Amino acid sequence: MLDSVRVRLTFWYTAVLTCVLVVLALTTYFVLRQSSMRRTDNSLVELADAFLTTVNAELHDQPEAGSLQNAVQTATSEHSFRDFVFLVFDQQNRAVVTSQDLPAQLLPTQAPPDLVQKFTDTAPQSSRQIRNVRLGGQHYRGYARRFLAEGQPYTLIVLQSLHTQNEFLEQVSGTFALIIPLAILLASIGGYFLARRSLSPVVAMSAQAGQIGATNLHERLPVQNAKDELGLLAASFNELLDRLDQSFERQRRFVADASHELRTPVAVLCGEAEVALSQSARSPEEYRESLDVLRKEAHRLKHIIEDLFTLARADAGQYPLIATDFYLDELAAECARSVRTLALAKQITIHCEAVREIPVRADEALLRRMILNLLDNAIKHTPQGGSISVACHRQDSVCTLSVADSGSGIPAEFQTHIFERFFRADKVRARTESDGGGAGLGLSICRWIAEAHQGRVELTSSGPAGSTFTFFLPLTSIAAEPPANRG
Ligand code: ADP
Repeated sequence: MLDSVRVRLTFWYTAVLTCVLVVLALTTYFVLRQSSMRRTDNSLVELADAFLTTVNAELHDQPEAGSLQNAVQTATSEHSFRDFVFLVFDQQNRAVVTSQDLPAQLLPTQAPPDLVQKFTDTAPQSSRQIRNVRLGGQHYRGYARRFLAEGQPYTLIVLQSLHTQNEFLEQVSGTFALIIPLAILLASIGGYFLARRSLSPVVAMSAQAGQIGATNLHERLPVQNAKDELGLLAASFNELLDRLDQSFERQRRFVADASHELRTPVAVLCGEAEVALSQSARSPEEYRESLDVLRKEAHRLKHIIEDLFTLARADAGQYPLIATDFYLDELAAECARSVRTLALAKQITIHCEAVREIPVRADEALLRRMILNLLDNAIKHTPQGGSISVACHRQDSVCTLSVADSGSGIPAEFQTHIFERFFRADKVRARTESDGGGAGLGLSICRWIAEAHQGRVELTSSGPAGSTFTFFLPLTSIAAEPPANRG
């Protein structure tokens, strides 16, 4: 039962409320008790003062000996209030005014002779004392005060019955005992319904989330109030679903495109092999031609599979960068040299320019792959007799490497798509030998390599005069010191 958040919330709410109410009730009870006690004490003191003033006045008016008893009786009858009792004791603790002298309804049944002792025991040095006393089963608040009359010491004790106060305090505690459990019961029922109501969107969300799977990933959780905490939770969950949906969609497209790209070379391989095998009498040249076709398609297949593998590892974050110190200008020159033969076949000239040395710290193999991809594309898309130039610069916090060709450029409508996976501007055209049979993955890999180095690669210009791709590498990944052994 405690597994339910609703029940736990109600339980905690009720527990806290109970503590608060109990503390409140106890505090109220003690404050009331204290203040009523203080009021009683004040009236006892005032009454004792008034009583003694009357006694003194009576003694003054009738100075003859033995008139104390008369004076006390006069004062007693003058100050006879309900619930108050006056007792006067002599030095030997004998009552000067006997119980018969006092109004019967005010008399504590049989004032014991040790009553004065009770007061003097508590504070023998003090001339006045206030304390609770219990006489004849009744509770009294008592005030004792010593005074001199006719040269003799006497003790006046004023008692006030605590019956009314106790009754009032009992009523208060009785009311609390009734109201607190009732309030707790009502609050816990209300708290449970409140918790149920507040958490109902969560229940709805979890029911909806439980129904969302790979097949209906486009469905979203209901957002009742986008500004409250549950609304924010639902919105965050929906954003997560958006990202998952996009990622699933990318994966689906990737798999579909990959199988499509792989199907063509495999079909060519099968077809060519079947043709070669179906004809019994073929010349060695014909076999050689068939084998050449098979070799080229197998090569293309290998290339696509390698690219797919690279991207799959990159997506899974399993392609660790191996950073080394090297010179970017030198790497660019090396790449340009390695594609020279390919370029010469189309009478394309390659210029490589670097104004100064550019030491960098990066993954050399990946940067080489990116530069070769850019050069490969440039050669593929530059007509016979054209030119390609590779330039390296270092500016402030960034170094750049650009590959510019004199090809026919990329149509404006395709420029925003060329970095997408499997995108080929010439997709509709039959794949020819001159386009190198690319699967549209080269620039995607370039973009991933650049981003893995916190940089970027862009098509900085493209038109009838050619295209320029630029790679920006931030200096944060550039070594401050030049590499130690420049070859
Ligand atoms: P591919 O492996 O097919 O070359 P890429 O991702 O490298 O794939 O390039 C995507 C598309 O961008 C190419 O099919 C081509 O249409 C276009 N492209 C890339 N580089 C150039 C360039 N230098 N000149 C003209 N078009 C280019």
